[in-house]
Amino acid sequence: MVIALIAHDGKKAEMVSFLRDHLELLHRDEVELISTGTTGKHVQEAGLKVKRVLSGPLGGDAQIAAQVAQGDVDAVFFFRDPLDKHPHEPDILMLMRICDVHNVPLATNPASARLIFSGLLS
Ligand code: PGA
Repeated sequence: MVIALIAHDGKKAEMVSFLRDHLELLHRDEVELISTGTTGKHVQEAGLKVKRVLSGPLGGDAQIAAQVAQGDVDAVFFFRDPLDKHPHEPDILMLMRICDVHNVPLATNPASARLIFSGLLS
């Protein structure tokens, strides 16, 4: 089970809090995490193993989208900050579109992530 974790700067604290609430499940052997660069640092600091790609604005969202398109990702937790502007908006939209094209579960906030997570790992 591969889960992609991405959080915009204004949402990184919520991502860390989400991870802390689910540490036991995230530590399971069958769970593999991938993450954009800076989010990945926070994931590591929360004590989890994660494969980091580039930072989002440098192409990390596009790298994760490519893995989704290849069928290598089971769910994407993408905590977007709807109150901020992002230079990589085209990549953000592309990642969400690719999730829809390939019918991959996408949570854009912690409440949705919680529901997807409990469905995936129950
Ligand atoms: P980051 O990228 O984890 O490197 O901050 C996230 C994003 O902005 O898409």
